[in-house]
Amino acid sequence: MALIHNLGFPRIGAKRELKFALEAYWQGETNLAALKQTGAALRARHWGYQAGLDLVPVGDFSFYDQVLDTSFLLGHLPARVREFTGDPLDNYFRLARGRSAHVSAQTTAADTQALTDTCCHHAVVAGEMTKWFDTNYHYIVPEFSADSRFALNADALLAQIAEARAAQVNVKPVLIGPLTYLALGKSKDQTDPLSLLPKLLPVYRELLQTLSAAQVQWVQIDEPILAKDLTANWQQAFAQAYQQLDGCGVQLLLTSYFGPLQDNLPLACQLPVQGLHLDLINANAELPAVLAALGRDKVLSLGVINGRNIWKTDLTALLDLLEPIAADLGSRLWLAPSCSLLHVPVDLNREKKLPAEVKNWLAFACEKLAELQLLGRALKFGRAAVAAELADNAAAINARRSSTLVHNPAVQAALAAVNTNTGQRLSPYPVRAQVQQQQLQLPALPTTTIGSFPQTAQIRQARSRFKAGELDLAGYQQAMQAEIAYCVQMQEQLGLDVLAHGEAERNDMVEYFGEQLEGYVFSQAGWVQSYGSRCVKPPIIVGDISRKAPMTLEWTRYAQSLTDKPMKGMLTGPVTMLNWSFVRDDQPRSLTCLQLALAVRAEVLDLEAAGVQIIQIDEAALREGLPLRRADWEHYLQWAVAAFRVCANGVQDQTQIHTHMCYSDFNDIIAAIAQMDADVITIETARSDMALLAAFEHFDYPNAIGPGVYDIHSPNIPTVAQMVSLLQNAAQQIPLERLWVNPDCGLKTRKWPEVLPALERMVAAAKQLRLSR
Ligand code: GLN
Ligand code: ZN
Repeated sequence: MALIHNLGFPRIGAKRELKFALEAYWQGETNLAALKQTGAALRARHWGYQAGLDLVPVGDFSFYDQVLDTSFLLGHLPARVREFTGDPLDNYFRLARGRSAHVSAQTTAADTQALTDTCCHHAVVAGEMTKWFDTNYHYIVPEFSADSRFALNADALLAQIAEARAAQVNVKPVLIGPLTYLALGKSKDQTDPLSLLPKLLPVYRELLQTLSAAQVQWVQIDEPILAKDLTANWQQAFAQAYQQLDGCGVQLLLTSYFGPLQDNLPLACQLPVQGLHLDLINANAELPAVLAALGRDKVLSLGVINGRNIWKTDLTALLDLLEPIAADLGSRLWLAPSCSLLHVPVDLNREKKLPAEVKNWLAFACEKLAELQLLGRALKFGRAAVAAELADNAAAINARRSSTLVHNPAVQAALAAVNTNTGQRLSPYPVRAQVQQQQLQLPALPTTTIGSFPQTAQIRQARSRFKAGELDLAGYQQAMQAEIAYCVQMQEQLGLDVLAHGEAERNDMVEYFGEQLEGYVFSQAGWVQSYGSRCVKPPIIVGDISRKAPMTLEWTRYAQSLTDKPMKGMLTGPVTMLNWSFVRDDQPRSLTCLQLALAVRAEVLDLEAAGVQIIQIDEAALREGLPLRRADWEHYLQWAVAAFRVCANGVQDQTQIHTHMCYSDFNDIIAAIAQMDADVITIETARSDMALLAAFEHFDYPNAIGPGVYDIHSPNIPTVAQMVSLLQNAAQQIPLERLWVNPDCGLKTRKWPEVLPALERMVAAAKQLRLSR
């Protein structure tokens, strides 16, 4: 009989209760007791959803981030927060976000006051945040140094175990394993994180012994770095570490996910643990090898339900695979989602507006657990015992396969017509650059922005009134035009050379386009935690993508009509659309990406035909689609770059294509970026002091570049001198005639009183440098 379990449940709450409780507490509107109460209520509710499982995760709840929880569990805190005497949860928030809660409740300060806001409780430098593997979830990076110390603090975990038992569930504590913990951290000095293992392991041993004393039988120990490239040192450290963790009185389920084990497979199968979890969604091909290599005394947990996507599972096909394995392994077979369900929304039943046909193809976290339990019953009692449910599932799977919502012959025909010329500019960059300059007559070091300007309360209000039907279309358009006009006027006053319309009409750079494309659907409440209290609601690509009508043309035309300066057309690129959506699982990502590229290409060509001379296609998320394994990078970059080229490169020589990327970690993909052949690329660099420009020391980037000189993530307003100095640094790598001057990213999250002086100084910096040429 297969045992059914879960690896982790989303903690934010179906209605984002945790988000609102956290933010209310941080604002000083509620107290710590109320926040803890919400946490306990959410845990209880989520255990309730999971009550039918044989083992339920405990320790997967978090007030901010599970890696930060682990740092507290291991008593591993950076020196700057060690001496705090208040509630540990307040200290936890200090490390998470630089401060705990406001002292006073006076938080509705005016914009200007917010700028000088210093009324924050015990402010410290917040921990760095970075992406959790190849997901869109961000964790707080552990900070290692020679003086790193560890001391067990299991109180919070033990309390949650007691809570879960009181809720009548069979507990399985979830831990991040020692190797993954070390691998996720960063050294603040030259200390090799691996050298800390001897200090760390005794704490893990003590933890496991503590759990054993608390009558815990199974512990899920997550080591997702097994899906990444590991050097021989790390592989050896794995072997040593797990030898030391053996015999602590609990059974360990070594849990890998997000990818195949590849060369780590023998290691993972041989470690002295009692069970192994394999992500069958991403490592399906390794099942025979794992079955052969895994000791006959070990549990094999198969991650058979996709924890990263929102489609129903084909249960009949899965049973075909699982029945013989179940017959062979008996109770040694466990079934689970592929990874924690953190990465999917909670409850499909809350969706009231999805087309019924599409809704029937989907499964969110609750529905995924129901699928698991159905599988369990089918294996235990035979398919006949659940025949009706299996028939429903099969009907949904078949309906999706043949639906006209999914398959569009016109899109297929357009795809078939794509060839290498589709993505090829007519002339090489130097020729284009000359033609473009004749047309645009830009000064040296042209100034521009990345596109968006502050999304004011006024803009958000107009949008929500329009959505609620309180404002009609004409009224909404008028309101947005007024915002655009203001934005254009400000840019003219500032003396920027290339203007943007400000993106007032967009709440989100993917959603805005997705809503206008055939092939996308949108959930109302499909929130997924991105970091802390922040959630995203990824749109869902259900079928072949096509453009129904122009998407940005009218706004851009209107903006251009207000000025003689060049107005950029602003689009989101195909790779970013793909990487920030839930995607189809019935065709390769590369194909979906190409469909998106063709749809956006149509918009590019329409903008060009309307006389727009500069078109920016943002690829903010190109880098985050990089596969976990280095060997897979080339293939990804090849199709991603090809998609961008199809999207962008159908224009005439005189049309200037810009692209924008939101990161500074550039070194290893610079050649691929160059192949995109955008005329101008703007990138994020202000914070890293132009460090990324190291990439250009070894690679002669051929086209123009705008390295960001204004860090838009901070309310700080840089000085002219700071920006001049950043530009001078940049000029050492990039010839002045190919250098642009711009902020790091869009200004949407900033306020006008910050943006105006910052851009004024940015323009002054460019002028100063022009004079000194
Ligand atoms: N054009 C977008 C903006 O300015 C780009 C956003 C992004 O790079 N994430 O908001
Ligand atoms: Zn950006």
